Amino acid sequence: MTIVRELKADPAWQEPLDRDALYQLLSQVTGKSITMLKAFPETGLSPAQTAVFDTLSRRYREGEPLAYILGEQGFWSMMLKVTPDVLIPRPDTECLVEAVLELGKDRIWRVADLGTGSGAIALSLAQEHPQWSFIATDASAAALAVARANAETYQFSNIEFRLGSWFEPLDCRFHCIVSNPPYIADDDSHMSDLGQEPRSALVAADQGLADIDWLTAHAAQYLHPQGWLLIEHGWQQGEAVRELFRRSGFLDVTTGYDYGGNPRYTRGHL
Ligand code: GLN
Repeated sequence: MTIVRELKADPAWQEPLDRDALYQLLSQVTGKSITMLKAFPETGLSPAQTAVFDTLSRRYREGEPLAYILGEQGFWSMMLKVTPDVLIPRPDTECLVEAVLELGKDRIWRVADLGTGSGAIALSLAQEHPQWSFIATDASAAALAVARANAETYQFSNIEFRLGSWFEPLDCRFHCIVSNPPYIADDDSHMSDLGQEPRSALVAADQGLADIDWLTAHAAQYLHPQGWLLIEHGWQQGEAVRELFRRSGFLDVTTGYDYGGNPRYTRGHL
């Protein structure tokens, strides 16, 4: 029998990130909370649980993101289902959510989340504003199925999911359009760390700016007068993205920062 205390002592699990992963994997395998596992290190794993743990820890060692192994990722105040069909939601994107909440304070908005992936942005906004209405689009049917499942888990009935690329499935105007599009350049060395996530959700042509260019150029047709557009981007893209916003007629164009203090999203209104 494998004992939690022995795994804890294993040199393979000493780095803080690995230690964290160890407890998350053990919690998944045993169905016990991390607090319980820490309080009772004498907890044992049955042979069946040990076999599952061995498989999961091998996947972790081979570099598969923990979120895909566990099948879930925390975002905002929710635990979202994730599969390799969707980008793993990043804490940085919560800053974009906060920016929308700030702008939409005391208003009743209709919002479009384009390229919704797991549904992270639309769901967190919907959680804060049950009276707002949302259309969330994605070009990937598999991604949309994940987003729908997440909306069902949290019983949101104010989000409509539509299949299609960017604006394609839209047929009305919005007070706000928000998106976390792919923005990594094709030759970015950082891509080798992200190899397990869907390339179409990460990489864009023209130094990573092609989709942002498309979004800024077409958003006005789908926004009410004074409507807001907010787009996440890379930390070195602020200047270029602000220029794209201005070129499409957006006003009061400013860039906001992520938790690491890096430029992470740009907003502007008509
Ligand atoms: N922020 C992610 C990363 O750099 C990329 C997300 C995206 O392309 N939209 O890892």
